Amino acid sequence: MAPGGSTYKEVLESHSTVTDYDIAMTKADTNLTPAKTTAGLGGKKGISSPNGVHELLECPVCTSLMYPPIYQCPSGHTLCSNCKSRVHNCCPTCRHELGDIRCLALEKVAESLELPCRYQSLGCHDIFPYYSKLKHEQQCRFHPYNCPYAGFECSVTGDIPTLVEHLKGDHKVDMHDGCTFNHRYVKSNPQEVENATWMLTVFNCFGKQFCLHFEAFQLGTAPVYMAFLRFMGDDNEAKKFSYSLEVGGNSRKLIWQGVPRSIRDSHRKVRDSQDGLIIQRNLALYFSGGDRQELKLRVTGRIWKESELWKDNGC
Ligand SMILES: [Zn+2]
Ligand SMILES: [Zn+2]
Ligand SMILES: [Zn+2]
Ligand SMILES: [Zn+2]
Repeated sequence: MAPGGSTYKEVLESHSTVTDYDIAMTKADTNLTPAKTTAGLGGKKGISSPNGVHELLECPVCTSLMYPPIYQCPSGHTLCSNCKSRVHNCCPTCRHELGDIRCLALEKVAESLELPCRYQSLGCHDIFPYYSKLKHEQQCRFHPYNCPYAGFECSVTGDIPTLVEHLKGDHKVDMHDGCTFNHRYVKSNPQEVENATWMLTVFNCFGKQFCLHFEAFQLGTAPVYMAFLRFMGDDNEAKKFSYSLEVGGNSRKLIWQGVPRSIRDSHRKVRDSQDGLIIQRNLALYFSGGDRQELKLRVTGRIWKESELWKDNGC
């Protein structure tokens, strides 16, 4: 993979990547569940979701489940706080003036409920206290993934097999079998860094799928190219893999070794954390050889499973 004889070799450290893993995970529970409600988490007083009570907790206006503060009109019609802010102080059910009356009884009932995860039909069979259900659902492994395609916002979600089909069919993404790759990226006008998001390639190996992104963007004031790998699955599984990328020319070489990031982390987030092989444009043009008018980069790489490497070394 890394033959001797290169006169210039630089191994980028995998910096600044660990800290921002947690941001997306903790964001979820700060919004809708005020601190006081978390007291109910460990409670043993659960009622196993009798349907009638569950229905009472559905906002009659938007049909979402209601979380504190839950409001009611003077006649007792309930609604969620989102809807309350939209109905101009007029009860949507009876048209009377709404006021600011909390429905504390219903909030208390909610606290005693236990409900199935909303992804039950996708395979999650866990039951949760009402106020920790939302938090779980953000992290639930059956939570559908967002489409990993970069370049424009794609709203398709689904499980991995669905997304693989979607990438092939709708985004015309290149699919490769195998754990090594050797790609050439050619661009005739390398001065155009804006909007130069290049195609994604998907690799099938170890029975899993990995997305190799290669693109150009402006890092601060410097135009750069960046290559990085994302894992089509959850973070805990992504961490079992490693990958390396090499790019070079003119007897120089850059090598990157990293851990693929889960596609739960957005493409943008990975890019902004610079968790990948970054090549300054000047160096990229130098690697390209010739008269620096055209970008011709050869990126090679390999994906491996960490445990297998240990096995190899152990023998
Ligand atoms: Zn509502
Ligand atoms: Zn009313
Ligand atoms: Zn779940
Ligand atoms: Zn898509």
